[in-house]
Amino acid sequence: MVRIDQRLYQQMVDHGYTCLPNEACGLISGHDEKVEQIWPLVNERPSPHRFFVSKTIVSSTLDAIEQSGQQVLAVYHTHPGTAPVPSSYDLQSHQDSTVKMVIISYKFHSPRSACYSILDGRYVKHPFHIGER
Ligand SMILES: [Zn+2]
Repeated sequence: MVRIDQRLYQQMVDHGYTCLPNEACGLISGHDEKVEQIWPLVNERPSPHRFFVSKTIVSSTLDAIEQSGQQVLAVYHTHPGTAPVPSSYDLQSHQDSTVKMVIISYKFHSPRSACYSILDGRYVKHPFHIGER
């Protein structure tokens, strides 16, 4: 189960709000599925339907996470107008099956999120707990 406290979750939700109507994205790091930090990234090709971050930015962020002694737990991105379910594009572009996918949707009155494991182009819901402990 990936666990995130309310403060970090809110940071991610706020990042998504600032990027509306386009998608926002970033990385989530920590230890043993406990989130300790989020790393907002810039969507370099702003779109309401997808995100793009260049390889250099991704690898320098991965280096920074490694230097901080944490592990990459998940990639997060937002769905401004659709449910928090991976699109076929999301599944194709997710490269690393050890890294989870978190999606925050702004389709509804209040944001909704979900976490997934992605393997061989398929997704399985992964428990995601928001709150202290
Ligand atoms: Zn998506």
